[in-house]
Amino acid sequence: MEWTISIEGKNEFGDICRREVRVDKSEERLRDGNLGLSIGDGKKIMAALQNAVVTQEAETYALFRRVCPDCHTFRPVKDYTTRRIRTVFGTVEVRNPRWMLCRDCHPGMVDAFAPLKEICPDRATPELMELTARLGSTMPYRQAASLLAEFLPIEPTETHATVRKRTIRVGERLDDQIAEEAWRARLQMDERRQLEMQLPGDRRKEFVISIDTAHVRSADPNSARNFEIVVARCGRGGRGDAGGRYFTTSNTDQPAIRDRTLHALRREGYCGFGDVTVISDGAEILKRLPRAMPKPTTHIIDWFHIAMKIQPMQQIADHMVRSRSDLAGILPTIDRDIRAVKWRLWHGRLDRAIRDLQDIVTRLLPLRGAGDLSAARLHSLGSQLLTYIRSNRSAITNYGARYRSGLRVATTLAESAVNSLVAKRMVKKQQMRWSQHGAHMLMQVRTAEMNGELRDRLRAGFREPEPQVPSLFKPKPPLLRAA
Ligand SMILES: [Zn+2]
Repeated sequence: MEWTISIEGKNEFGDICRREVRVDKSEERLRDGNLGLSIGDGKKIMAALQNAVVTQEAETYALFRRVCPDCHTFRPVKDYTTRRIRTVFGTVEVRNPRWMLCRDCHPGMVDAFAPLKEICPDRATPELMELTARLGSTMPYRQAASLLAEFLPIEPTETHATVRKRTIRVGERLDDQIAEEAWRARLQMDERRQLEMQLPGDRRKEFVISIDTAHVRSADPNSARNFEIVVARCGRGGRGDAGGRYFTTSNTDQPAIRDRTLHALRREGYCGFGDVTVISDGAEILKRLPRAMPKPTTHIIDWFHIAMKIQPMQQIADHMVRSRSDLAGILPTIDRDIRAVKWRLWHGRLDRAIRDLQDIVTRLLPLRGAGDLSAARLHSLGSQLLTYIRSNRSAITNYGARYRSGLRVATTLAESAVNSLVAKRMVKKQQMRWSQHGAHMLMQVRTAEMNGELRDRLRAGFREPEPQVPSLFKPKPPLLRAA
């Protein structure tokens, strides 16, 4: 049986446009397991429909834009070329005119414009750009390319390189938007700094920024070093509340991180008032952030980073006490001593914790000297912890009190962000190397998607006011009909 699909379009002036698509479905094919329309048929049908619709829309738009908004006459033609518009349902080749500016209304100005560029600035439609970028930000580019081609009538020339190019392009657009919003936010923040200093802190209004870094392998042959991506989540409220917005940047300059942070905070309702708490590990680039933020901003070392340093010490100590009788003279209560250090750190009793830990480390020294491996390991871990606590002492707080008040004490939010944003795409694929620009832009796409605003942001950038578009879809019919 041969199926014919007819479509009929009627434009604003009553003109009818008809197209037919034929699909041959012979009965013999049923025996081969070919029942119903296949993906291939679907691609063919959609491509044909798309061709009709895009061709008509492109022509109509170009025609509307030919009318000078001032004198309502046709603008002169500069030239005609063709433009291939890639859509989710195949590539459509359309006539691409360029109109000159009206000579009467713009005397002395010789300028031309391509109307199609206004509705489709890229070689692909905004929808295809967005879809490609979204897939490209969640899976390897190669995989995204083959997934697209699997279901959509995409040309074979569109490869992983196309996916990468589009993803980065979309990322750059998002990045520009955020940079501009952050810049505006900073201007307003400067005006308000004086005011907020006079406001008392209100713990219930605390804004928490959980911030972490991920290392990404660099593809730059001139730099052997990896680069870092800052991943953060910020929002209001304590444990159990929604995590808030994500943001990412590969620019680890202090002003860059601060601007991103303020931008995200503002979107969570921050107006320069209220307490801000930054929770991070002891990484130097993150410790700089609180100093750059509006006051009052507090920096807290993530509790789990401390706890995870104590945990292996605890295991060794427990084991030593259980399995060894020769400790009785020197370290009879090493397990309880370490537990006590942890308890003191949890309650923010820092001086006491440092003194006790120093004492433990000193007492381990002779055992280590005697070749005791457990003691040597414990000594090494203890010394590291001591250094960590000392260099971060101003950022160690009373975690117990915060916890009991329902406030956050750990960067679990940022870490889950690292996992969902970076790790899947960049860290776990150890063989992959990234350019900093590419990684940064890809992360902007992924972040926008995670924040649920990818589509709105791309469409917002699209709706830029074009001063030359007047009553675009209210043209004077007689004139257009004459065309
Ligand atoms: Zn004119």
